[in-house]
Amino acid sequence: MRKPLKSPQTEVEKALVIGGGIAGLLTARVLSDYYKKVVIVERDELPQDPSTRPGTPQSFHPHRVLPRGKRIIDRFFPGYVEDLLNKGAHSTENEKITRFTPYGSLAVVVDQKNASSSRALLEWTIRQRVQNISNIHFITKGEVIGFLTSADHKKVTGVHIKERGEQKQERKIATDLVVDTSGRSSKLVKWLKEMGHEVPESERLKVSFGYSTRYYRVSPHVKEKWGLVSTEAEPEKGNGAAGIMYIEDNLAQTLLFSAGGEHYPPTNPEEYEKELYTLANPMMTELVKEFKPISTPRGYRASESIRQHFEQMEDWPSGLLVAGDALCNFDPIHGQGMTVAAIEAEMLDICLREQRHTPHPNFERKVLQRMQQAIEPAWWLSSIADLRWKGVKHVGAEPLKGVTFAQKYFDLYVKQAVKQANEKNNSSMFQQYIMMNALVLSPREVINSRMLNMILTGDGSLEEKQLLAELGDASEKQMQERLNQLIPSFELAFNQ
Ligand SMILES: Cc1cc2nc3c(=O)[nH]c(=O)nc-3n(C[C@H](O)[C@H](O)[C@H](O)COP(=O)(O)OP(=O)(O)OC[C@H]3O[C@@H](n4cnc5c(N)ncnc54)[C@H](O)[C@@H]3O)c2cc1C
Repeated sequence: MRKPLKSPQTEVEKALVIGGGIAGLLTARVLSDYYKKVVIVERDELPQDPSTRPGTPQSFHPHRVLPRGKRIIDRFFPGYVEDLLNKGAHSTENEKITRFTPYGSLAVVVDQKNASSSRALLEWTIRQRVQNISNIHFITKGEVIGFLTSADHKKVTGVHIKERGEQKQERKIATDLVVDTSGRSSKLVKWLKEMGHEVPESERLKVSFGYSTRYYRVSPHVKEKWGLVSTEAEPEKGNGAAGIMYIEDNLAQTLLFSAGGEHYPPTNPEEYEKELYTLANPMMTELVKEFKPISTPRGYRASESIRQHFEQMEDWPSGLLVAGDALCNFDPIHGQGMTVAAIEAEMLDICLREQRHTPHPNFERKVLQRMQQAIEPAWWLSSIADLRWKGVKHVGAEPLKGVTFAQKYFDLYVKQAVKQANEKNNSSMFQQYIMMNALVLSPREVINSRMLNMILTGDGSLEEKQLLAELGDASEKQMQERLNQLIPSFELAFNQ
């Protein structure tokens, strides 16, 4: 029997999660260890098989889980990768991944067991696990339309639900904790304002990104011959990215991506093919020729990524939390959203465990503060990359730290990493770069004075000159100090 959480004020009985997407499922899984009853309210009717649904329009597009996310999801749902493989997902164990960077191509072999699937199959697999947890209950076809609160609006005490369908009946559910995981379309800011709260300015990355995705049937021998192939974007030249992902049932997805708003990838099949062949490297072109298209391309666009700063609200109501895209969403090309949702769920688990032993009076605000610390590397890394595109802007109360320096540093780092891999058959530098972008390693493992000494070879290249210009005339001794001034420490993101 699970022990219910003791909060300072009450014995907590019931928690409610708004939204049954990836963040909602992970959050409910965590809460089920601490609350007697957990309810997930989802506005969609949930499909009986792994198919896309209206509430998650992004699920048509490729979704990969980064290594940090995989680790956390596996902790909460042990063996979920096996489940995916049993349902026909593509095994990526020992698969060769070839990446075409502006500095040359590079192949990396993935030696860990992992599965690549559609977002619909991933969500369905995790949902099945959640549906088997006895104290988690689903309310489907129910849209949360507002909060129930205490008379002084200092506490959220439940939600107001409107049934979807003919009757459109409304009902109220009282609960001890509400967690908003309703995604990009969250109404949380509006609801907080209706409660009389002043909401701090959010950080916005005006990124104007566009996706276009097409599905293909692939014969198994093609997958065996070729691993995964991708061409990285070259924002400075206005060139988008192109990639291929294998998913379940011998299907593949191709993806075109662009940011900055000047050009969006086409959805007309002829124009799509043309752009794919223009962006694709020769290897990808050969590969796509072996595919049989089974869908027309479909697009997805968003004008901005938003990071809320609710943790700054001294009067943040008790009984309320937020996670997933509703708290912070990203340009999806970096594949971070689901992993960040997993990181937040893990942080919630840590905070609830601590709360059980040492109750904190402002528990909810404390959780939000720690979630912010945990997601900082993801926001910083994706913003640094996106700000290379003409037309992309960061807007917020504080400027982002170290943008130009980090861009120049990563230019030189990737150049040297590709050289080391191709000339010395040593891909350790590149692996480290991948692990940073997979949110496993702190950016400080890549940006530090030791690494700086390694990448500055004195070859007089343009990248080296540009980086030295950013560093100014700091002596070798002062280098670490200069780096500390330029780049965030990310200490609190990894030391929890
Ligand atoms: C094109 C695209 C590609 C992406 N690719 C990747 C990738 O490769 N890797 C990755 O990690 N992430 C990717 N993402 C991001 C990823 O989809 C999200 O970050 C992730 O799913 C977490 O989302 P969430 O659970 O917070 O929201 P969602 O998954 O959007 O779920 C929100 C849920 O809330 C429900 N809902 C909304 N409002 C209400 C309401 N009022 N009442 C009840 N229910 C409600 C919705 O129906 C939905 O089910 C991509 C995103 C896009 C747009």
